[in-house]
Amino acid sequence: MLSKRARDMAPSMTLGINAKVKSLEAEGKTIIDLSIGEPDFLTPDVAKEAGKAAIDNNMTRYGPASGSLALRETIAKKLKEENGVEYAPTDIVVTSGAKHALTIALTALLDPGDEVIIPVPYWVSYPEIVKLVEGVPVFVKGKKEKDFKLTFEEVAPYLSEKTKAIILTNPSNPTGAVYFKDELEALVVPLVEKGLMILSDEIYERQVYDGDFVSVASLSPEIKAHTILINGLSKSAAMTGWRIGYTATEPKLAKVLGDISSHLVSHPSTVSQEAARAALESAQPDMKHRREKYKERRDYILDFLKDVPGIGCVAPEGAFYVFLDISSVRDKVKAESLSLQVCEDLLDKHQVALVPGIGFGADDFLRLSYAASMDDIKEALARIKIYMEQAQ
Ligand code: PMP
Ligand code: GLU
Repeated sequence: MLSKRARDMAPSMTLGINAKVKSLEAEGKTIIDLSIGEPDFLTPDVAKEAGKAAIDNNMTRYGPASGSLALRETIAKKLKEENGVEYAPTDIVVTSGAKHALTIALTALLDPGDEVIIPVPYWVSYPEIVKLVEGVPVFVKGKKEKDFKLTFEEVAPYLSEKTKAIILTNPSNPTGAVYFKDELEALVVPLVEKGLMILSDEIYERQVYDGDFVSVASLSPEIKAHTILINGLSKSAAMTGWRIGYTATEPKLAKVLGDISSHLVSHPSTVSQEAARAALESAQPDMKHRREKYKERRDYILDFLKDVPGIGCVAPEGAFYVFLDISSVRDKVKAESLSLQVCEDLLDKHQVALVPGIGFGADDFLRLSYAASMDDIKEALARIKIYMEQAQ
């Protein structure tokens, strides 16, 4: 009965673990949840008020497929002022989260069998969305000693006549690595010369701790013409449940993206759009405060890990994840999937939830999200240390 695409699809591991934690909590268990990448901060009051006002003002009817003009103007202003890249409001399509943005982008670009370069480790949903639109994910593995960041020379052997695009996540989920300006330029310029489209997922742009974030489209007009910028409010404004993301790209493509979206969801919730507009328009002290908090947590974790036997990690420059290398216990644990087994043990025996690296294409790793309170982080690390000591 099921299509091949449906049969081939793996469910989202991040959301799956989150659901498992919630059901354990409903049974009365106390879990320290460092699995899901969801800010522990609350949606800003200005956004909440704007959402309530939208309801009171009856902004509860159908709107434009690509999103309200007012919100698209605000996004265009943000992209110009914060990222130094100029888009007209009509180049923007507002979506129901960045996942929806990725889906319409890949739907617009791929014919069946077209290939998409996906750097490994990758965020869990990329290969599945590519497959859902009948594309072929082509995985290119980065080197751990280079923080998994790829160079053009590493990607080149994987390019074929069918390669249409590359998905770049900057900063990266799950590693936290950031491509800074020179690295980004060196990777992207030759790819664009070869005609590839860059799907640039910039959802963690505001969580960069050790340098300046550069939006790929700001590098040159040629690169901009080959980029679909993907972003959203989930992480930057702590608005995961409101489901607002967006794409920015050249006008003709933007029109197609809006048309595809019109058939899929009509448009994102009008109430959420008003809340997102208020969040984007409000001053940014919240953002600075959050970034400082995340940085504090990251520094604490990296410092603590120095004393944990058998654990290594890529030093994350952004996002809110640490990707823990647990390959040292592979011989001891003896399971088909190391990361699944260690995550299961940590959850069952130590009540700590992390995400298995296998979901990101890297079974030697576990992903720890530090979008959580310092108390939870400290307690979870203490338990992970006990686990690792026992596993030696
Ligand atoms: N891209 C990356 C890299 C993510 O980590 C996530 C998870 N939030 C998304 C996209 C999807 O975000 P959204 O909530 O906007 O769908
Ligand atoms: N992106 C976040 C994560 O990786 C949230 C869950 C999801 O959308 O996958 O945990």
